[in-house]
Amino acid sequence: MTPFTYVEVGSVKEALEAFHGGGDGRSKWIAGGTNLVDLMKENVERPMRLIDLNALDLHGIEPAADGGLMLGALARNAATAYNDTVRRRYPLLNAALLAGASPQIRNMATNGATCCNAPAASISTTWARHATSASRARVVPPSAA
Ligand SMILES: Cc1cc2nc3c(=O)[nH]c(=O)nc-3n(C[C@H](O)[C@H](O)[C@H](O)COP(=O)(O)OP(=O)(O)OC[C@H]3O[C@@H](n4cnc5c(N)ncnc54)[C@H](O)[C@@H]3O)c2cc1C
Repeated sequence: MTPFTYVEVGSVKEALEAFHGGGDGRSKWIAGGTNLVDLMKENVERPMRLIDLNALDLHGIEPAADGGLMLGALARNAATAYNDTVRRRYPLLNAALLAGASPQIRNMATNGATCCNAPAASISTTWARHATSASRARVVPPSAA
């Protein structure tokens, strides 16, 4: 594994400053680490700087004003799949998440990475089309889907 520096950030502003402020263009976010760490061990990914997003307040799954649902980028795949509203109103999302990986991986893997990570296409194509940013995904109400 190539040596790297590790930075914990406490706000989105700090995260963006850390991302753009160093690392010679080779900064990477890390969330659950289930994909990135494997790629680093195999030298496929060689970031100079890892920016840990886990302290950001993006773990929630909350109703949106328009009747949809806001999925925090750091909410775990398991927490999302087993969320009451997801189970009742978004059964395809529930089934897609539970069809992927293993319970251990789903307990760590995050929504943000699942949307933004190319290898995660098996899950993300079912719902990432509704993503509005890397920090939150908006799931439209079933009636509007
Ligand atoms: C045994 C095993 C089985 C797996 N099975 C599946 C599967 O069935 N389906 C599937 O889709 N994936 C699978 N994966 C891959 C992996 O678990 C997923 O890609 C998961 O979504 C990664 O989430 P993470 O939070 O751990 O990401 P990390 O490993 O932390 O990061 C992955 C990438 O996403 C970027 N990233 C992280 N958070 C954000 C953010 N908020 N905004 C922008 N970029 C971000 C990182 O910089 C990195 O490039 C599997 C992995 C393993 C080890």
